[in-house]
Amino acid sequence: MVQVSISRCADYDQERVNSAVLTAIKLIGGMERFVSPGQKVLLKVNALTMKLPEEAVTTHPAVIKAVAAEVKKAGGIPLVGDSSGGMAAGQAPTKSTFEVAGIARAAEEAGAELVNFDSAAVAAVAAEGPIPTLHLARPVLEADVVISLPKLKTHSVTILTGAVKNMFGCVPGYRKSEYHRMAPRLKDFARVLADIYGLTRPALAIMDGIVGMEGNGPSAGRPRNTGLVLASADGVAVDAVVANIVGLAPFKIHTTRIAHQRGLGMGDLAKIDILGEKLETLRISDFDLPSNLMFEVLPGFLVSGILGMLRARPVIAEDACAGCSFCVDSCPVQAMKLSGKVPVIDYNRCISCLCCQELCPNKAVQMKQVNPLGRVLAGIVSHGKQKKRRRYLK
Ligand code: SF4
Ligand code: SF4
Repeated sequence: MVQVSISRCADYDQERVNSAVLTAIKLIGGMERFVSPGQKVLLKVNALTMKLPEEAVTTHPAVIKAVAAEVKKAGGIPLVGDSSGGMAAGQAPTKSTFEVAGIARAAEEAGAELVNFDSAAVAAVAAEGPIPTLHLARPVLEADVVISLPKLKTHSVTILTGAVKNMFGCVPGYRKSEYHRMAPRLKDFARVLADIYGLTRPALAIMDGIVGMEGNGPSAGRPRNTGLVLASADGVAVDAVVANIVGLAPFKIHTTRIAHQRGLGMGDLAKIDILGEKLETLRISDFDLPSNLMFEVLPGFLVSGILGMLRARPVIAEDACAGCSFCVDSCPVQAMKLSGKVPVIDYNRCISCLCCQELCPNKAVQMKQVNPLGRVLAGIVSHGKQKKRRRYLK
């Protein structure tokens, strides 16, 4: 039976985080089960974009420090690494994200080497999915042990982002945008994410679910105190358990279902042993899910037909936009152009990857119905909010 441990943690007080992380790791056998003395242990954090720790977009520094301390106690040599999202070639903002999100300081205080995948060596690796050769940061492939430190968040495209999707950051810099362009359909993109998860082989996932994100994550949603740390040798199982906690059927999450089908982990809750807390006591009945959710869970023929035309599209909120051009530079299919101060979007080119929303520093990219019929449908769907949306997931 696959094990997922869960411990509660009210906030990011370092002592409380240390205790919660230690409890979660001990329940699944202790860090010594995963790390031997002298091994290089890469902590793959979520450093999505330049946000402060309290904005709940990136793995919190307190969690990074707690895990690095446990790695050291087991005799391992911790490294902390990631590649942030977006931007054109040569402009990757990972260094700034490390600074703003407190990750650089956390690594320094923990005595861990900070690894910016954008400036690290890259390996070309054969994959099974729609992109036959993937480029991954060598420090991940060369580490003795990889530990994934995802954040509990919604995702406007993949519904949830967790341990499987967290490994997408092992793709350095602008290539992430390229992969969005090469696999524009969500199911294909989820296969790419499963490939990357399989190739980067994290031995352990420890999820920062202390303050998660609800609504239109992974960066434009709202922080939500979820008060949890989850740990498992199986990241797919972590994602399945989190889906259940926020009211989703695990196999409706493409990354979980595909990774499970490919034998990369366990997505079937009936075969997952939950340690530490009872799942029934953890469910968050009013967790706000992404506004595009229904389009990911309806039958494919409906979505590709008329309902697909009603899908919400990214729209720029002029009053919030600073004209920084970050989204324009990050759009994988060049569907955005700066016109005056505010970008305009060519919806004929747009592949709905939502990189623009994910990376906008001002939450100026909002999901809206551009079709009047869609607005009516959205009103019906939002009536009764999440309860009615979840009906599609049962
Ligand atoms: S929408 Fe956001 S990322 Fe794009 S130009 Fe405006 S502020 Fe910058
Ligand atoms: S405009 Fe469309 S294709 Fe470009 S980043 Fe935004 S969602 Fe993706």
